[in-house]
Amino acid sequence: MQFIDLAAQQKRIREKIEENIRNVLNHGQYILGPEVKTLEKRLAAYVGVKHAISCASGTDALLMALMTYDVGPGDAVFTTPFTFIATAEVISLLGATPVFVDINPKTFNMDPETLDAQISKTRSQNPKLTAKGIMAVDLFGLPAEYEAINAIARKHHLFVIEDAAQSLGAEAYGQKAGSLAHIGCTSFFPAKPLGCYGDGGAVFTDNDALAEKLASIRVHGKGADKYDNVRIGINGRIDTLQAAILLAKLDIFPEEVELRQRVARRYTEHLGSVPSLVCPWVPAHMKSVFAQYSVLARDKAHRADIQARFKAADVPTVVYYLKPLHLQTAFQYLGHKAGDFPISEDCSQRILSLPMHPYLENAQQIRIAEALVSNTTAQGIQ
Ligand SMILES: *Cc1c(COP(=O)(O)O)cnc(C)c1O
Repeated sequence: MQFIDLAAQQKRIREKIEENIRNVLNHGQYILGPEVKTLEKRLAAYVGVKHAISCASGTDALLMALMTYDVGPGDAVFTTPFTFIATAEVISLLGATPVFVDINPKTFNMDPETLDAQISKTRSQNPKLTAKGIMAVDLFGLPAEYEAINAIARKHHLFVIEDAAQSLGAEAYGQKAGSLAHIGCTSFFPAKPLGCYGDGGAVFTDNDALAEKLASIRVHGKGADKYDNVRIGINGRIDTLQAAILLAKLDIFPEEVELRQRVARRYTEHLGSVPSLVCPWVPAHMKSVFAQYSVLARDKAHRADIQARFKAADVPTVVYYLKPLHLQTAFQYLGHKAGDFPISEDCSQRILSLPMHPYLENAQQIRIAEALVSNTTAQGIQ
């Protein structure tokens, strides 16, 4: 069994992918070729925003978004400690300070009430820092609570960036992930819901001025052209080849999003009777794209038992995320200690992600569920 089966998807669209790659080899415009522009138009239409600016990775998307707001030393950006390193890494890379906000244990996303309190606390206790913005994450494919987050941002005059690296295809109130904040950022890393065959990403916004600045930052802060440099930027372009591959994948993406819903529903049915196991929760007004199907065990020992059972049954599982960011060595300089963000720490001890992709079959899911309810474990009969 595979954790993510990319081969099943490729089998469906292999010819189209090869045709698209051949077209690029024929026209030879490897940098910002016509496929890149077509991809941007189609992504903007899909997400429902005015502008999609493609780029070299999800990390670059987040970096470019922060650079657009001139984030730098002395600035505080509020984010979650229960995410992939890239989210907070780009804040530090620009010399700004990531200020962590603990999560809601039901959604694994930033808790809006805690966010509001953390902003006020940072303002009063750390006058050297300027509260600049919020970077919320749509973890495992479920949008964060942007209605509440955007309202808090308006109150405190902050920008909001949506890290939609895991949530392209998800929705809140009928609006697509990537369009839920001032700027949305996504990733086309192969294992994400919409992945290419290398690195890639995109930035979304409705704001014309921000879009123009993003396009400039993507190409060395270009003005009239890349030899006229009006600001400090990066080389953040996506390859034309990756854009060509994404165009073939985008054809079947809406269908894959629906298939993911079905796989998730079946998991929740099959696993519903497993004692002390918490299945993912999706608020009524949201649709998750289930980048991961992550369950919560009762405690660390219970998770170890589940992992052993899955291992014995040859079911691959992964822990996202074993170590919350405030406890990572890279962020030691922030001076945090165990206990600072108790909900994130507790979830990191109990969380486990199961195999998840659009082509997972019911028979496989039944086998996965059976591995949990049988009496045998990796250690033998209980
Ligand atoms: C994958 C991921 C990123 C980074 O994307 P890359 O394309 O790998 O650079 C950022 N944030 C989150 C939440 C992610 O899952």
